[in-house]
Amino acid sequence: MSKQGTVIQSTGKWYKVSVDGEIIECRLPGKFRLNQEEVTNPIAVGDHVDVEKQDDHTGSIVKIHERTNYIPRQATHGRRGDQILASNIDLAWSVVSVRKPRFKTGFIDRFLVTCEAYEVPAGILVNKTDLANKTDLKFLEDLEHLYSKLGYHFLKTSIYDPQSLEQLQEKIHRKISVFIGPSGVGKTSILNALEPDLKLSTSKISDFSGKGTHTTTFARLVPIQGDGFIVDTPGIRELGLVDIDPSELSLYYPEMLEPRKSCKFYDCTHSHEPDCGVVRAFENGEIHPERYNSYLNILESLEQ
Ligand code: GDP
Ligand code: ZN
Repeated sequence: MSKQGTVIQSTGKWYKVSVDGEIIECRLPGKFRLNQEEVTNPIAVGDHVDVEKQDDHTGSIVKIHERTNYIPRQATHGRRGDQILASNIDLAWSVVSVRKPRFKTGFIDRFLVTCEAYEVPAGILVNKTDLANKTDLKFLEDLEHLYSKLGYHFLKTSIYDPQSLEQLQEKIHRKISVFIGPSGVGKTSILNALEPDLKLSTSKISDFSGKGTHTTTFARLVPIQGDGFIVDTPGIRELGLVDIDPSELSLYYPEMLEPRKSCKFYDCTHSHEPDCGVVRAFENGEIHPERYNSYLNILESLEQ
């Protein structure tokens, strides 16, 4: 009888699969290696698989469920030969901080565009709210209003505010989450605050194979309390801007989807063209100036 689990680590020959909280070392029968051409790794962390347990307590992967999404190693978009960093991401958080370092909204929008392109649900996590003054708080309120309206999760946290961490805990419960952001914003501190024995449990996982800790750049999923996983890989923290055609950028701005339909030119970039639906929506106040501004900035970097 097979059971469904989630791949939490891949070492090439063996896959660690979490099945109902138990970690099983699994092999992948040869036939699966052949029939997936579009990606270079047949199984990625995050994959939901069916496992048949063997008498020696190892497992055999008998089915790979279809992926809802995946983040490739390079910032490509659906190209052949993609190497998958992690799949089936339920929620990707852009982690920034109010101060030390002060965040830029442009960074958030780049991240959101990339998530939209990969079809990964996204959220914004503003940390270090304990350092916020009145002006910062007002600004955060406006920001929350803007991004919530666009359909993104928005959370304000401080590692000194247990209630804010509880809210985060609720959001990542039973999900595969990834935290992406520049260094110094507090990603490690947040994860340690959420999961006081995170370090302990991760070293336990690494020791399971008896080969010690893997210091590769491959991703792994770290199980968290209450049935969820956090993607842990060095590369994923600097998720780059996805490589897309400039005329497609507006597809990844939810508020531009409707307005772009009334542009005169089908390949309108909504920057200089006449009779542009997006510019009209912007002028009517239906598109936030900051968002239109970040759109133009990203467009410029895509055109270079
Ligand atoms: P990472 O590089 O994103 O993993 O950031 P770290 O977790 O290493 O945190 C960087 C610094 O910010 C450390 O000195 C933390 O103590 C501090 N820090 C993290 N979270 C908070 C917070 O909510 N408030 C304040 N004031 N400092 C924080
Ligand atoms: Zn247009």
